[in-house]
Amino acid sequence: MAAIIDGKAFAERLRARISAAAAAMPVRPGLAVVLVGEDPASQVYVRNKHAATVAAGMASFEHRLPANTAPDSLLALIARLNADPAVHGILVQLPLPAHLDATAVINAIDPAKDVDGFHVVNAGRLATGQPAMVPCTPLGCLMLLRDRLGSLAGAEAVVVGRSTIVGKPMAQLLIGESCTVTVAHSRTRDLADVTRRADILVAAVGRAEMIGAAHVRPGATVIDVGINRVARDGRSRLVGDVDFAAVEPLAGAITPVPGGVGPMTIACLLANTLTAAARIHGLPDPAGLLP
Ligand code: NDP
Repeated sequence: MAAIIDGKAFAERLRARISAAAAAMPVRPGLAVVLVGEDPASQVYVRNKHAATVAAGMASFEHRLPANTAPDSLLALIARLNADPAVHGILVQLPLPAHLDATAVINAIDPAKDVDGFHVVNAGRLATGQPAMVPCTPLGCLMLLRDRLGSLAGAEAVVVGRSTIVGKPMAQLLIGESCTVTVAHSRTRDLADVTRRADILVAAVGRAEMIGAAHVRPGATVIDVGINRVARDGRSRLVGDVDFAAVEPLAGAITPVPGGVGPMTIACLLANTLTAAARIHGLPDPAGLLP
């Protein structure tokens, strides 16, 4: 039976540390969240981010724009937030409506305030081992892995998924930890053969329960990033990319869905906002929040 990695409890402890560090900071860290349009899931995420930011004692600035916002208006708002000394973190909620170029919008954010870590400068810094803003979800996965395993050096790590948001930065972080890293994706031949090598298996695919017992080496540490809504027994439920019931008996440790990686993402957004505020004001990086 696997140990259950309790991301919810870990995230609560992390948020308490962040609140204490924010209160001790000579400036009040501030996070601006920009939401364009009325996507229901995005509205829930933005509401949760606002509540978490306020609960951490930070300033929260919400900017809600209509779905038909012109590119220039959005870029003008980003420029104002870049120049605003009360704002240390800027997050543009994705996905954006189709007429807006998400890459151009993200790259208009001051990299020092890019708390999502999606700006090309931060991606480049992470890839070259320089101090970066690290994307929140992979940062949260890394914290859980370190807490569970201590040193990751020498471990065989397999990341399933190569997105800019999760898979690629996760692989970069694991390389930074001196793991031997394999990245699998939709064109990988014999996925189970690849994933069975893993001491550390990170699934970030977006396909409900696709990682089964045949994909997992006994004793492996399994991090399930996936969030998939499925209908089960006439009810709507959240499940991960890992078939928990099948994998839990043979894994060494596993994150549940919900209650695993999900809560870490928001906690790491707060951590990045604190780090951004510290760096902008020439203060040392808050302890233990970055790789
Ligand atoms: P993307 O859709 O951007 O990327 C999915 C990746 O999975 C792609 O690289 C794709 O390969 C790969 N893939 C698709 N099908 C297969 C397959 N059959 N075998 C192997 N690889 C496959 O998703 P994201 O990275 O944004 O998100 C992944 C999951 O994580 C989603 O469920 C999402 O909801 C969840 N998520 C959870 C977060 C959290 O806070 N817990 C935060 C962010 C995401 P290819 O590149 O070849 O197409």
